[in-house]
Amino acid sequence: MSETTTQAAGPATPTHCPYCALQCGMSLRGGPEAVEVVERPDFPVNQGALCGKGRTAPALLSSRVRLTEPLVRRPATGRLEPATWEEALGTVAAGLRRTRTEYGPDAVGVFGGGGLTNEKAYALGKFARVVLGTSQIDYNGRFCMSSAAAAHQRAFGLDRGLPFPLEDIPRTGCVILVGSNLVETMPPALRYLTELRDNGGTLIVVDPRRTRTAEQADLHLAPRPGTDLALALGLLHLVVAEGRTDEDFIASRTNGWSEARAAAMAHWPELVERITGVGVPQLREAVGMFCGAESGMVLTARGPEQHSKGTDTVSAWINLCLATGRAGRPLSGYGCLTGQGNGQGGREHGQKADQLPGYRKIDDPAAREHVARVWGVDPQTLPGPGRSAYELLDALGGDVKSLLLMGSNPVVSAPRAGHVEERLRSLDFLAVADVVLSETAALADVVLPVTQWAEETGTTTSLEGRVLLRRQAVAAPPGVRSDLEVLGGLAALLGHEKGFPADPEEVFEELRRASAGGPADYSGITYRRIAQEDGVFWPCPEEGIGDHPGTPRLFLEQFATPDGRARFVAVAHRAAAEEADEAYPVLLTTGRVVSQYQSGAQTRRVDELNAAAPGPFVELHPLLAERLGAVEGEPLAVVSRRGRAVGPARISAGIRPDTVFMPFHWPGEGRVNSVTNPALDPTSRMPEFKVCAVRVERAHGA
Ligand code: SF4
Repeated sequence: MSETTTQAAGPATPTHCPYCALQCGMSLRGGPEAVEVVERPDFPVNQGALCGKGRTAPALLSSRVRLTEPLVRRPATGRLEPATWEEALGTVAAGLRRTRTEYGPDAVGVFGGGGLTNEKAYALGKFARVVLGTSQIDYNGRFCMSSAAAAHQRAFGLDRGLPFPLEDIPRTGCVILVGSNLVETMPPALRYLTELRDNGGTLIVVDPRRTRTAEQADLHLAPRPGTDLALALGLLHLVVAEGRTDEDFIASRTNGWSEARAAAMAHWPELVERITGVGVPQLREAVGMFCGAESGMVLTARGPEQHSKGTDTVSAWINLCLATGRAGRPLSGYGCLTGQGNGQGGREHGQKADQLPGYRKIDDPAAREHVARVWGVDPQTLPGPGRSAYELLDALGGDVKSLLLMGSNPVVSAPRAGHVEERLRSLDFLAVADVVLSETAALADVVLPVTQWAEETGTTTSLEGRVLLRRQAVAAPPGVRSDLEVLGGLAALLGHEKGFPADPEEVFEELRRASAGGPADYSGITYRRIAQEDGVFWPCPEEGIGDHPGTPRLFLEQFATPDGRARFVAVAHRAAAEEADEAYPVLLTTGRVVSQYQSGAQTRRVDELNAAAPGPFVELHPLLAERLGAVEGEPLAVVSRRGRAVGPARISAGIRPDTVFMPFHWPGEGRVNSVTNPALDPTSRMPEFKVCAVRVERAHGA
C-alpha cells in the first residue's frame, strides 16, 4: 500500500476515492491542473490511508488522454472525429429513435456501470424505462457481486453487502475470508484483519493461491478452483458431526434446517477432500477455529461468487453461519465484500434488469405503482424485466440493434470478450459516454466526453451500506458534460423535456421518494445529513428528517423475510461448467492486482500505476513450469475453447500445480477474458469468470 500524500495545510474539499467499494475518504486541494490529495484521518473507514490508485486518482483529471470534445464517426473516413455537443446528442437521439421506430423499444439496449453514482444509476434506469420504454437494461455490476446479492435475498430477505460496519471485524472471534485478496483489492481494509489477530481473533483464508492476504492467515485452505461449495458443505457436515450446531438459534431464528442439514450430511469429509484437495485434518482445524470462538464472520468476495454455481456457494457459506448461530447477532454474520465503487448503490436504484429504485422488484405490481407515481407515468407503460448483462451483450446485433453505454468497458471486462467485441461491432448504432477513449468507446458511432468524480457531486453506497457524498472539488474542463446532463439532453430530444434534472441533489431528492418504503429505503437521507455524519447507513426511512439514525447493523432483532426468520437453502456440490480434460488439462482463475482497477480504462492511463503494473502475467507453479519447460518471464499462451491470452510466466510455489492465474485489466493479446467462460449461474446470471479449462503453451514454441 502506498502511503497517503500530504498533511492538510489549507482549505480542501472532503470527498471519496473514485475506485473501489471501500470508498476511502480523502480531501482534494488545488486544481484543476494540479489537484493534490490530502489525507483525511477523520473518516473512520480508512483513517487517512489510501492505496496507490486513490493517491494517484487526480492524474486523470488533467491527463492529455482524457476526452474533452464529443466524437462522431464520419461515414467518409470511418473515423471518430470531433463534433459539437448539438450534433453528437442529435446523432445519438436519432440513432436510438430510428431503432425504436423500426424494431420496437426492446431493440434499444442500455448498459450501465457499478462506478456510476446513485443519482446516475437512478437516472439511467428511469431514462431506459420512461424515455426509451425498453426492458433491455443491465450493468457490469452483474459481473461483480450478483451471486452474493441473490443468496442474501433468499436467506435474509435483503441484500446489503455487509450487514455490519467494518469496525466490528476486529472484535469478532474468527473470520473466514473466502476468495478475497484484500492486499491487492482494497489494502486499507487489511487493518481490520490485522486488528482482529492483534485482539486474539483468528483468520482463515480460503483461496487457491497463497496470496499476500493468505499469508496473514492462521489457516490457509487452498481448494481447487470451482469447489468452494463442496468445501463449505464439508465444513457444515463436520459442524453437525461434532455437535457444534446452535440448536436454540436454529429453532428460534431460522427455517429450512432439516433439508440443509441433510444436504450437508451427503458431503462427508473424505469426499470433500477428494473434490477440493483440502485435507480432512485442515477441515477439522477450520471447524475448530470457527466454532471455538465466541463469535464469527464469513466474508466472501469474487472468488466463490463468480461461478455458474455462485449463488448456491454463497448459500452454503450462509448455511454455515446460520447453523452455528453466527448471524443476526452482534459481531457475527455473513457479509460480501462488494468490489466496484458504487456496486452496492448501483444495484439498488434501477439499472439492474429486474429492479426499480429502492431495490424494488420490477415485476411487483405495488412497486411499479409506487415508482410510476413518482415518475408521473402510468404503471402499465413500465416495461418488465430484461436480460442480464452477458445475455444482453450476447443479443447485440440480434434483436438488440442499438446500445447506449455508460461507465463500462465490456470489451475488456466481459467474459468471452472476443465474442462480445464482435457483437458490439455488429450493432446498428453504439453510443458510449466515458472519460477516455476506452476499448469499447473506440467502437462507438458517437462518444460523449463526461465529467469525472472530482468534477461533479453525487452519492455512492459503500460495501458497508453507508451512503456517502462525493463532492465536486474542481471545475470540469470546457467541453465535457456530466452524465446527468447527457441524459437530460437526450431525454429532451426524445420528447421528455422534464423529469431529468442535471442537478444531482435534485435527482437524489426524487430518488429518496422513489425508494421510500422499499427494501433499500433512502427517504430519511439527505446531502446535509451525509455531510454531517460521515455517511448514513440504509435503510433510513424518513421519520421527520434527521430522526431515523440509519441502520449500521442489520438483522439483530429479526431478518427481513416475511416471518422474520432466516432461510436455510439446501444446496449440493456440482461441477464447474467446464472441467479440466485431456485437451485442456489446467484450470484458469482470474483476478486483480493492486495497481490496476477493473478493465484498466482509467488506471492504465496513470503513469505511476502503469509503471507498477504494466501488463498481465501468467502465474504458475514450478511443477507446471517444469513440465512445460518454461522459465520465469517467458511468454506463455493460455488457451481455452473460446480464445487465447498471452503473458510472461511468473513462477510461484504459492499456486496449486493444477491452476494458473491471470489478472484481467488489459486488452489485446493479454486479455484474459478472451479465454473465460460465460456459463451463467441460473439464479444470479453471474458468469463463471473464476474457473475454466485451459492448456498452457510456450508462446514462442519449445
Ligand atoms: Fe480507492 Fe479502494 Fe484504494 Fe481506497 S482501497 S484508495 S477506495 S481504490
